Parts: sequence; structure tokens; C-alpha cells
Amino acid sequence: MVGEELFRASIGKLRRLLDQREISAPELAEYFLDRMQRHNGTLNCYITVTEEQAMEMARRAQRKIDQGDVRIWTGIPLSVKDNISTKGIKTTCGSRMLESYVPVYDATIISKLRRYGAVLLGKTNMDPFGMGNTCRTSHFGPVQNPVSSGRIPGGSSGGAAACVAAGLCAGALASDTGGSIRQPAAFCGVTGLKPTYGTVPRYGLIAFASSLDQIGPIAASAEDCGYLLDAITDYDPNDSTMRQPNCYGYTGKVGASLKGIKIGVPAVLLEKAEPAVQAAVLDAVEFYKDAGCECVPVSLPGRSYALSAYYIISSAEAASNLSRFDGIRFGSRGEGETCTEQMKSSRGNGFEPEVKRRILLGNYVLSAGYREEYYQKATAARNRIKAELENALQACDFLLSPTLPFTAPRVGVLEGDLIRRYEADAYTVLANLSGLPAVTTPCGYDGDGLPIGLSLTGRAFDEASILGAAAAFEAQFTRREAAAL
Ligand code: GLN
Repeated sequence: MVGEELFRASIGKLRRLLDQREISAPELAEYFLDRMQRHNGTLNCYITVTEEQAMEMARRAQRKIDQGDVRIWTGIPLSVKDNISTKGIKTTCGSRMLESYVPVYDATIISKLRRYGAVLLGKTNMDPFGMGNTCRTSHFGPVQNPVSSGRIPGGSSGGAAACVAAGLCAGALASDTGGSIRQPAAFCGVTGLKPTYGTVPRYGLIAFASSLDQIGPIAASAEDCGYLLDAITDYDPNDSTMRQPNCYGYTGKVGASLKGIKIGVPAVLLEKAEPAVQAAVLDAVEFYKDAGCECVPVSLPGRSYALSAYYIISSAEAASNLSRFDGIRFGSRGEGETCTEQMKSSRGNGFEPEVKRRILLGNYVLSAGYREEYYQKATAARNRIKAELENALQACDFLLSPTLPFTAPRVGVLEGDLIRRYEADAYTVLANLSGLPAVTTPCGYDGDGLPIGLSLTGRAFDEASILGAAAAFEAQFTRREAAAL
């Protein structure tokens, strides 16, 4: 059964087709590469297409399948965000600074995927260094939302979400520092998961804000996200912030009963949402009640500090992390007579305006005299938010809210308005500040047909529960296909 509709198949279904020899791994890779050739010109979701390597990996995967040495992702064609290091394959972070950088080593997650025969189709487009939420600021051009060409796909992992929505890969691996997986997934109408901090090795992920960054999956369903999380989580001594996850087998609760589960609904996140978003999320609450869950209101007073705390902490960490891009250690080298002049021109020409803004902000909030006023207060606010969320999750199994209070904005709306752009992250940063896992899945459409994201935030290392609950919702929800298909 090798039909035109293969790009709609779940990872589980592709696995069966591969194992039953209805399709071979190279045929499947060719199928997706062909779709990329047809659609990537318009969508621009891939910066680099690794055609030759992908075919080589597919042949290797087929040998594994023939030998019966199979994991769920063996032979499955995936995309990887361009801030995850891939040996011998350009890794640009969407920035001019790294436009021709080719890493000499693989990120831990890439080594694991390669070891078990995943097929890497290419590297996906992003806002430079993960800073942004529009995917309009990449050095390699803007990404188009497959749902509607006049809307932004969201960011920073806009390329990853768009290629999943358009069926240009079977699943995507991306990163989320303040919402970069969940926001574009919600705007493009697909499922995305930010795992608990410390679940997925960050070794080889080019750092934006190390205490917030986490690699996670974007896919067509919660179950597929679970399979991808299984594929990338593992203990890694190269990442000192790894914690031994207490739960392997992230799809374990797909299909389980929801009876008796207690869901907290933070009223403040619902009240601020657009009417269509509110209505769709309230419908989801009804679904869970019908399934036997108890839904209770939750208050999060510390939430009002979340956005400021996020921008102060993430910029402070970015200022430090990005100091290595000086044209000498890393990054494209500028002209200059002296070392200082050379660094100035490397950084001045290499970094995009938003990256420079974060570096300036970060150095400011860390400087003598301002450290106490900004950075330390932000850290205190972060601790309070974390405590509030953890408290709420002692009484409830998970929290339910809109992923964002609105649907994908028109192209141009956020790009020119810094405050509005930053404010768009107000909901998603909660999971990063607290380190908790959060999944987004489509739960409705607004009057313009744009997808609305439902967010479930769970207890630390309990991804299985939120993925199970999201899968239960998905099982009765009819998803609309993206227009670009
Ligand atoms: N939009 C947020 C920012 O610009 C989050 C980005 C991310 O998660 N990488 O900081």
C-alpha cells in the first residue's frame, strides 16, 4: 500500500508498513524527499535538505529491518531543527553568524537516532538562535504557515511545525526555551511536547538559555510525540542537568481511562483568551468531564511576573552563551586590523537585530548595580511561579489551558511590535520557568479556520499522563488538513 496519502500516516502505521514489507525504508525516504522538493520552495521550512545522507541512512535502516533489529523509529523519516548539531551537516541556528558552520560531532539525540536507524531528511528553519516567535526573522528567509499563507507559522521552531503540518516529514525534533515547540505547533495545527527539564540530553543543542532549553518532538499526534520522546530520551553523562527519568515508555497511557483524574484550570489564562479560543478550550473541559475527570479552578497569582522573569533570565543566559561567537572560536569571521576590531565586525555583522537586543539586555541585567534589581528578582519570581505550579499539581493531575490566548497572527502584526511580540510568550514560558512538561494539541478552529491549541501541563517526568490525556482528546477530534496539502 504505497499511496499518495502516506504523509498522513502515523508513525505507528508507517512502522507496520515497513515491518510488513509493504514499503521499504528507501522508498519511504524518497517519498518524503519528493514531497519536500514539491513544497519546500513555497513553505521554506527546511534550510538544508540532506538528500544523499537520508538515502544512505534509509538503506542502513532497511538492513536493520531485514535483520529484525528494529525500534519504533527505524526507517522513519524525521526533520531536525537547525540548532541541533549534526556531524558533517550544516547547522546554522537560522543565523548569518553560523551560515556555513558544519559541526564535527553529533548531538547525543542524533547519535541515538542514527544508531537505531532513523532517517534524517534535513534541518529545519528557525528564528536566529531560537529568539523569536514568528519564524520571519531567519537569515534563510521566512517560513510560510501551511494552514494559511497570510499568517505566521510561529517560532522559533516554525520550520519544524510547518513541515509536520504539510506532511514533509513523519515527525520533527525541535527545541523549546519559552514556547518554541508549542507556539508554532499550535499555530500550524499539530501536536508538540516540551518535556520536563532534564529528560532529553541537551549535549549538542546550541544553547540559547541553558536553564530553560529542552529538546522535544512535534508530530501529527500525541502518540507520535510519545514515540519520538522514547527515541531521544536517555541518560547522558555529557549533560550534567540530566535527571534519570522515572518513566520510560511515553505512550504507556495512550488509550487508558481518564476516570477519576483531576484537572486544574487556571482561570486567569482562560479569561485573557480570545472568545473563539475560550469556547474551544471550554469544549475540551466538557470532553474531559464527560470522560470522568473532575475539573477545578486554580489560581496562579505569580503568573503576572512570568514574562518579565523569562525575558530577564533567558537574556542573561543568552548573553553568556553567545559570547563564544566571536569569529575566532565560533562564527563567521569579520574583517579588522586588531583582535577587538575583528570581533566587533564578526559580532556586528553576524548577529541579527533580535539576537543583539537579547545580548544587550542580558549584559545589562547582569551588570554591577543592576544584578540585584533585575536578575535576582527574576530568579525569585521564577521560584515562586515554580512553587505555585507544583503546588497546584499536588492537588491536580495536570493543568489545562489555552496554549496561547489567540490564533496565528497575520504576517506583519508581531514583527513590527516588540511588546506585543514578547507578550505573545506569556502563557508558554510558564512550563520553561518551572521545568514542567507541557503538550499542545489542536482543540478547535476560529472563524478564519485557524487552529486553536489546547495545553496540558503535567507533573515533572509524567509526560505519559499528559500524552495519554491529549491522545484521548485527539481520538474524538476531527483535525482539518492544512491548505498547502
Ligand atoms: N519566543 C520566545 C523567545 O523569543 C521563546 C523562544 C524559544 O522557545 N526558543 O525567547
